[in-house]
This record gives sequence, C-alpha cells and structure tokens, in this order.
Amino acid sequence: MAKNSTKSKKTYKFKAELTQLLHLIVHSLYTHPEVFLRELISNASDALNKVRFLQITNQEITDPDADLKISINLDTKKQLFSIEDSGIGMTEEDLIKNIGTVANSGTLKFLEEIQKNGKVPEGDLIGQFGVGFYSVFMVTDEVVIETRHANPGSKGYRWTSNGQGSFTIEEIDRKKRGTSISFRLKDEHKDFSEDYRVKSTIKKYSNFVDFPIEIGKEKANTVDALWRRSKDELKEDELIEFYKFVANDFEAPLGHLHLSLEGAVNFKALLFVPPKAPMNLFYDLEDKGLHLYSNRIFIQDDAKDLLPEYLTFVRGVVDTEDLPLNISREVTQHSPVMAKIKTILTTRIINMLEDWSKNDIGKFEKFYKNFGMLFKTGVNSNFGNRDKIIKLLRFESTAKPKGELVSLDDYITRMKKKQREIYYLSGEDRDIVERNPNLEYFRKNDIEVLLMTDPVDVFVTPSINEYDKKPLKSIDKADITLDDEKKDKDSEEADSLNETMTNSLISVFKETLGDKVEDVTVSKRLVNSPVTLVVGKDGLDPQMERMMKIMNQEVIPRKKILEINPVHHLIKNLSRLNIGDSKDPLLRKSILQLYESAMLIDGNLTNPTEFVQRLNEIMEEATK
Ligand code: ADP
Repeated sequence: MAKNSTKSKKTYKFKAELTQLLHLIVHSLYTHPEVFLRELISNASDALNKVRFLQITNQEITDPDADLKISINLDTKKQLFSIEDSGIGMTEEDLIKNIGTVANSGTLKFLEEIQKNGKVPEGDLIGQFGVGFYSVFMVTDEVVIETRHANPGSKGYRWTSNGQGSFTIEEIDRKKRGTSISFRLKDEHKDFSEDYRVKSTIKKYSNFVDFPIEIGKEKANTVDALWRRSKDELKEDELIEFYKFVANDFEAPLGHLHLSLEGAVNFKALLFVPPKAPMNLFYDLEDKGLHLYSNRIFIQDDAKDLLPEYLTFVRGVVDTEDLPLNISREVTQHSPVMAKIKTILTTRIINMLEDWSKNDIGKFEKFYKNFGMLFKTGVNSNFGNRDKIIKLLRFESTAKPKGELVSLDDYITRMKKKQREIYYLSGEDRDIVERNPNLEYFRKNDIEVLLMTDPVDVFVTPSINEYDKKPLKSIDKADITLDDEKKDKDSEEADSLNETMTNSLISVFKETLGDKVEDVTVSKRLVNSPVTLVVGKDGLDPQMERMMKIMNQEVIPRKKILEINPVHHLIKNLSRLNIGDSKDPLLRKSILQLYESAMLIDGNLTNPTEFVQRLNEIMEEATK
C-alpha cells in the first residue's frame, strides 16, 4: 500500500442497517445527546482493558510503558472535541468490520422494535441498548478516527466519515498505540467543548470507569473500587451513581446487597436489583452478567457463571483475590472458585428477597412484578434453594381482586377445615380463567383457587407437586378430591336427575361422542354450567398444551373427560328427550353442541363452521 495518503484512501459503504441506525440516532435520540460521551469513554475503557490483559499475560505490545488512560482535549473557541486512549487500537480490518456494522444484538433489536411500533420507546430505555460509537453523529457532522493496533508491526490508519452512508480509510504515520477520535461540534452542541459540561457528564455516566479520564491535565473521574469500602463508608448517592454506571441505567436501583467474605473463598460484591425489567426478560438478559474483577483489575463484564439463570436480572460487581489475573473466559467457566462464589451469591440474594417479602412488601412486589417470571423458573433448578423460592412465589387468587398476589402460605391460612389440597387453575389471563366453569363448585363453596396466568406457571407449578404436605392440584383435572358434604339437602340437589336417568343419559352421551372423549361422568364441580371438560389424571394441563402448541412442539392431543351437571335444566331437558326417544335427533345434536361448546371454552375447537351450522339448526327448531 502506498504511503501517500491521498493515493491509498479507500471508500467503503455502510451496511444498510447502519444507515438506518444513524438516521434514527440523529433524528430521534437527540434528547440524550450526552450519551455520545458515555459511549466513547466506554469503548476507550474496553480498549484499555484489552491491552491490560495483553500486558498481564506478558505478550509483546507497542508502547509497553504508555500510561493506561483516557485523555479528552477541548477547544471551546473552535468547538473541537477529541478523546484519546492508549488501548488496544484497531487494525484496518477492525475499522472496516467493527465500525462499519451494527454488531450489538441489543441495538438491532431496538431498531426492529422502533420499526414495528413506529416510535422510539421511553427515553430511559435508550441507555439499555448502547447506541454505540455512532451516537457521536448526534453532536457532529464529521468524525476522524486515528488509530494504531497494539500488535508490534501494526500500522496507523485514519478513518473519516460524515455518517451519510460511507466512510474512508487511509494509512497514516502514527507512533502511538491506541485510538484518538476527534470532531468539530455542531453549533447546538458546542457546550461539549466546555470543561464543566464534559466533567459533569462524566460524573453522571462514567465516574467509575477503571482508568483515569483526564481533561487537559485534570482527572475527572473517581477511579475508586467502591465495593472495597466498608458498609458505613458507602453513601446512598454513590451507590445510586455506581448502579447507573454498572447497569447502564438512568434510574436508581430497587435495592442493593454489599458483601465482603473471607474464608474458604474470598470476595467482595456489590449487587443491585434494577428498578425495571428489560423489554424481553428472557431475550435481553441473555448476554448480560456481573462484572468480574480480580483484585481490583477488571476481567470481564459479562461473567455469566456467577449467578444461576433465574437470577440473571441482578447487576453489579464481584471482586475476588482467588482468581489469577490472566484467567481466560473458558477457565472461569469451570473454576471451582466461581462455583463457590455462585453458591454464596445465590443464597444471599434469595435471603435478601426473603427479607424484602417480610419487611418491605412494596419493594418485594415491585421486584416480583418485574422479574417474577424469570425468578420462578428457579423452582426447577436443584440448588437447594428450591423451598425458599417456592415460599417466595406469588399468584393471583380467587380470594383477591385482579392484580393482587398471594403466597402459598397465605393460601394455607385460608384453607377450609377439611380441605387437603391446594387448588389452582391456569389460563391466559385473569378474565378468561374466571369464566372457566370448573371454578363454579369452588366459588359456591367459597374455596380459594390460585389463578396461574403467567405462561411460565405451567412449567413451574406441576414441579412443585406439594407444599407443606398439601398436594397442588389443577382443578382442570379429574382427580381432585371434592368434598360432598356441603351439597347435603340442597333444594337443587333434590331436583337432580336420579341415578337411573343420569346413567341412561350418560350412555347416550358416550354413544354420541364415541372416541371424541375419554369418558363421560357426573360432575361435582359444576353449578351453573351444563357440562365441562377435564383432563384425566395423567393428562397435560390444558394451559401447558396450549404453550407447547405456541412453541411449535408436537402435542399428541389427549382425549378429555366430559363431566355433566345433573342439576342443570338443560341436562334435565335432555334426559326428558332421552326418556321419550333415545334416538331423538335434537338430543344427539344437542350433545354434540354441548361437547363442542366446552371445546370452544378450552380454546380447542377446530371446526367452527360445523359448530355454527349445528347451532343454527338447533335455533331453527327452537323457534319453530
Ligand atoms: P460496541 O461498543 O457496542 O461493540 P460500538 O459501535 O461502540 O459498539 O463499537 C464497535 C466496535 O468498534 C467495538 O466493539 C470495538 O471493537 C471497536 N472500537 C470502538 N472504539 C474503539 C476504541 N477506542 N479502541 C478500540 N476499538 C474500538
């Protein structure tokens, strides 16, 4: 490649999604222009961490004695801004690959979301997505990057772009390792060439960056390992600032946990529960983890092996002396030190939540509404904390208005004298579950039923099996033990079909429905509805069946049991028809219609056309 820069200058086009992102950044995210500074500092800090790793592992690098720091230079008169780091730098290939595409999956998701909704989500979400280097185009029209990679033998390069679809790269003569980024600020953002503005922004977003940030000759950040201080040396506002820094959040955390342990394993940790859940709890937390330090030296910012999956919403730092500095990602994964820390953190976090659930219910409920869906999945992990987690579960209940949650312990205090089982019913949402005819008996007898409306519940609840020696039973299933005593000499009861009539009607039901159902039986749970479908003892919970269908899993459709209500007028009418002529077409039609209505309520009716045709025929006869 020729040394002469103009000759070797090459032009490249941005990837399509990047052009889109740029447009968005400049036109929609301008409400937080100071974000550019956080992004540039965070990139510089990453680059410095990478070079420090090379140093620790004794690899050869350019400029081995250079101070690890970030320098910002401002020229207020000319509205100039530049930021330089002595980090790893970039090769020509890095410049093309890393600065020409949107690598961050979160950012892409953010873009898709905006395209789908046609608007930018609330301001405070921007922080979670890391708009990256390109946020710089909020405050300037043209950027120059000069960089040289730390590999001995690497050359210097200049990258230039006005953010309008393309960039150029040329080789330059650069002695120093690392990267400098410079630009002239747009008029409306010229305040970023002023000391006080830059300093206060750094205080706000980047105060805890691990390397000194110098403005001119002055250090602008704290560079303080906050977690190493003792509890009483930690001030509330510092904790909040630190949380905002580690979690990239704009709001204060819901709560925190400060640990300092010495013994079999030595570590300090400062952990936080965020105030809000990300847009998609399962997807957005996937590549997040705690920040891991070894004796104050940063190792990685997404240490996933320090928390079980169901606690991945927790943000913060862990600093341990028990890991070697040059430990690689692969090694941390299998390190017994990490496993020990994980066990301790898990127990401590659960203890903290337990404490909230007793002493700060408001806080606990906020936590649960945000992260409960993920936390619950902990029931299925075998870490010895299962019982504690089950105690912390909360559910909607027929005993409480919509939106209020109860625990299994609450439920038990309200159980009826002779009640031996904990009852639940699952479904898509509260309103739908409330209409389920299987609830009628429980409502009439004032027996509480837990309403499982969270899709995760269907995976969690069956595995609880029993609580406090009381089995958890879905009232959708046929094997619940319903007490008959309540029904004693009810007037309706006296009005019920007698056994012979009932049995005769049941056999017509069976004959008509054939192998559509597993069985037809008399119901104890119905009050106002003529029939209902329940699942056999070994069948899948209907909600689970629905979930599996949604997830495209093969479900072998299980036949259900149709229960009939011998007190209901419609059933009695059918019995009368049956006594007259068991082959009466209206009787047969009505039986099919009742069965399909129950299927409809279950969300399993596959042929609505036939259903409607038959309904029309029945109405025609009724109105004759
Ligand atoms: P992100 O930081 O989320 O990956 P950015 O757009 O901010 O996205 O940066 C893209 C990539 O460019 C970085 O991942 C890094 O590889 C590279 N990069 C950016 N700034 C620097 C820097 N100061 N030094 C070295 N590499 C950098």
